[in-house]
Amino acid sequence: PAVAERIAAGEVIERPVSVVKELIENALDAGAQDIRIEVRGGGLRLIRVSDDGYGIPEAELATVCERHTTSKLTTFEDLEHLHTLGFRGEALASIATIAEVTIQSRAWETEQPGEEQPAYWVSWRGGQLQERGRRARPHGTTVTVTDLFYNVPARLSYTRAARTENGHIVQLVRRYAVGYPSVRFYLALDEHTAVQTSGSGNLATTLTELYHLSLAEMLQEIDVSDGKHYWLRGYMGNRVLAQSSRQYITLFINGRWVQSRALQEALEQGYRSLLPKGKHPLLVLAVEVPPTEVDVNVHPAKTEVHLLQEAKIKEALIQVVKGQLERSPVI
Ligand code: ADP
Ligand code: MG
Repeated sequence: PAVAERIAAGEVIERPVSVVKELIENALDAGAQDIRIEVRGGGLRLIRVSDDGYGIPEAELATVCERHTTSKLTTFEDLEHLHTLGFRGEALASIATIAEVTIQSRAWETEQPGEEQPAYWVSWRGGQLQERGRRARPHGTTVTVTDLFYNVPARLSYTRAARTENGHIVQLVRRYAVGYPSVRFYLALDEHTAVQTSGSGNLATTLTELYHLSLAEMLQEIDVSDGKHYWLRGYMGNRVLAQSSRQYITLFINGRWVQSRALQEALEQGYRSLLPKGKHPLLVLAVEVPPTEVDVNVHPAKTEVHLLQEAKIKEALIQVVKGQLERSPVI
C-alpha cells in the first residue's frame, strides 16, 4: 500500500490495543452479547476477536476492508443521531493495510432452522484481498489479525514489550466490560485468562468480577441528571486504591469510552477538594447526553469528543465527586 495509506492507518492504529478497541466496538455495534478476545505476543503475533453479533452478509464480506466502507452511516445528518460506536469505515481498512486480517462471519439473517448454514471467510494482507472460502460456524464474526505492523517498521519499534502492550489491553477490556455490563467479555493473553465477566447486566457484579469483592462492596452509586443536558450514572469506591492512578477512572459518553482531558480535569478537581493530589478511588461514570450535543467526529481514534454543554457537564462532575466524597469519606 502507498505510504500515505500507511500513515493514515497509523492515525487509527497506534498500537496493538487500538486494534482490540476497534474490533470490540465493531462487535458491540453488531449487537454482540458475548465477546471473546485472544491475544498472543502482546498483540503483534495475534489478536482475535469473536462475537455472536449479527454477522456480515457474504456479499459485503469482500469490501469491509476497503476504506470508507461502513454499514452504519448513510447521510451526514446521521452523524447527529449516532447510535453506533463506529461510523468512519476506516478501522478495518486501516488494520488490513498494516497487518494480515482474516474475517470469518455468518450473518444472522441467513439463519433458518434445520438447515446447514453457510459461513464465509476472507483474508487480506497489506490491503490486498488474498483468499476467500467457506467454513461452518455459528452466527457471528471472528476477526483475526496477525503480523501487525509488519510493513511499518517505525511503528514496530515504537511498540513496547509484550507485557506493556498486554497491560494496555487488559485495561481496555476491563473498561468495555464496565461500560457494557450485560455483555460477556473474555480475554486470554497467551492462553491465560486475564478478564472474564458474566454479562449479568449488573454493574456492581461486573466490578466485583473485574476487581475484588471487598472493593465492590464499598461502591457508592451515582445517579444524577438535570433532566435535559446530562444524566450521570455509575459507581465510586470509597477507598483510595493502592495503585491509585488515572487507570481507575473510567468515563463513557453515550456508550463510548472516552479520554476527555477536560472531563478528567473536572473529576480531579472534585477529588482535590478532599483528597491529596493524585489520590483517587475507583470511579466509573457513564455520561448520557442528547446525541445532538456531542460531536464524536474529532479524531480518527474517536476517544476524544466535543460536548456542546461542556461547561455544564464539567460542573456537574465536580459536584458529583465532591458530593460523594462528603457523603462517604474515602479511606
Ligand atoms: P465502521 O465501524 O466505522 O463502520 P469498520 O472499518 O470498523 O467501520 O467496519 C466496517 C464495516 O464492517 C462495518 O460498518 C460493519 O458493516 C462491518 N463489520 C465489521 N466488524 C463487524 C462485526 N464484528 N460484526 C458485524 N459487522 C461487522
Ligand atoms: Mg468500527
